[in-house]
Amino acid sequence: MSAQNIIDRLYPLNGGLAVAPDRSVYTPGRWKGEQITFSCNCYLMHHGSGWTLWDTGISDGVAEESGGKVIAHGIRGIVARTLTLQLADIGISPAEVTTVILSHAHFDHVGNAALFPHATWFIQSVEYAAMIGSDYAKYGYSPELYQTLDKTKIVLMEEDHDIFGDGAARVFFTPGHTPGHCSLMVHLSNAGKMLLAADVAHYPYNLEHGCVPSFNSDAQQSVASMQRIRSLADAESAQLWLNHDFVKSATIPHAPAYLD
Ligand SMILES: [Zn+2]
Repeated sequence: MSAQNIIDRLYPLNGGLAVAPDRSVYTPGRWKGEQITFSCNCYLMHHGSGWTLWDTGISDGVAEESGGKVIAHGIRGIVARTLTLQLADIGISPAEVTTVILSHAHFDHVGNAALFPHATWFIQSVEYAAMIGSDYAKYGYSPELYQTLDKTKIVLMEEDHDIFGDGAARVFFTPGHTPGHCSLMVHLSNAGKMLLAADVAHYPYNLEHGCVPSFNSDAQQSVASMQRIRSLADAESAQLWLNHDFVKSATIPHAPAYLD
């Protein structure tokens, strides 16, 4: 039986790896010239009778490139197994995903938008404005990745938003990395609450020290969002997952395994 006020199953999907040439971009003043590898997860959720995706990972097309492909800012994306195949492992096709929630529009989050043109997309309104505005390059967006999005299928969120209206999946507005960056709290029956904090921080050191990557859209907002995420996780006794934390990611089950 599936209750409506929880996510029955949460499948972390492997949305590829991102290899960045200079870690000091993420932590200014430290690790100059050191390469860093990031996990890029996205998350499939089963709620009621439907499938919802939080972010879409790096484009499946990158899997065809031996050794990956430099996508943006010298960052190499590597896809070992496509999202399509990972969904097939679970027994569903992209067409069965009826809802997509976007944390923000960087290539490692919106990369597979083209697989879900039929879905309803939840996007922060200020994020969407930045995606389609003339300053998209300043924010590091690649519009060709989301050109298939149908405006009539987009629900523009104004900051915090309860996706199903029952507390199972709540979006929290955490801007700073990008103008409309947001995070997602999911409520599971056995595993409890998970706060999927996307790119609020790339790894624990930055969260602990309030370090803001040099390319973030707003440093003050970034620090405030880090504080907000920590308070939220504390107040709700939630596990906090930083999407790009390679070390943490190695400890969590990935599809076809799931949490419930
Ligand atoms: Zn990212």
